[in-house]
Amino acid sequence: MSIDKAKRDLFLKSLTQSFVPLLDADHEEGDYIPLDLSINNDELRHIDVASSRALWNYVNTQLQKNRGKIGYGGYNERRDIYSRSVYFNQNDSATQRNIHLGLDFWCEADTAVLAAYPGMIHSFKDNRNHGDYGPCIILKHKVKETSFYTLYGHLSRVSLKNIEVGQRLSAGDVLAYLGTPDENGDYAPHLHFQIIMDIENYYGDYPGVSSAKNLMYFLENCPDPNLLLKIY
Ligand SMILES: [Zn+2]
Repeated sequence: MSIDKAKRDLFLKSLTQSFVPLLDADHEEGDYIPLDLSINNDELRHIDVASSRALWNYVNTQLQKNRGKIGYGGYNERRDIYSRSVYFNQNDSATQRNIHLGLDFWCEADTAVLAAYPGMIHSFKDNRNHGDYGPCIILKHKVKETSFYTLYGHLSRVSLKNIEVGQRLSAGDVLAYLGTPDENGDYAPHLHFQIIMDIENYYGDYPGVSSAKNLMYFLENCPDPNLLLKIY
């Protein structure tokens, strides 16, 4: 079922009443600190963002400075961190994929990842391209006649063991754990969380980054995760 954008946003907003924790339930709302990884952040110019270790150091410095435990951000954010990987690169700037479609949560590897909303496992896969998700799980949610999907990327490999398609989860259930750079596509540990309205035939995978050329379509299909999560 397709619904127009304003209706879609109201629908997603109505599903939760307040802040939805996505990582380790012991963390409180005040532990979440906004993090700017956009091309406009001058601080990143001095950092080798291609290095998962350098990026992790940057994230940690920001967390310490702001007394946070989880850095978040990045919906519809244009970033430089993808230019290292051929997986995202095309020949010109219009088709290069560098605009982020999910919300990222930067926190230590092995942190528990919680289901944001009741649903069932739609699909899962280990996406092993350099710079890709690594292990990824997609949940399907159905509310009356409307379905939508939530994607959890950059998980640990062990998260894909002992789960099955169709398995049901309640909000707040432990779904997975964050992966290390070795298993998460070579990134500083973080969760990529994305809402997808129409998943087409994708299975355990869906583009998390768009080119400028396709951005309109992807922003329509992948609304701001904060409508559901209410973090900012
Ligand atoms: Zn991401």
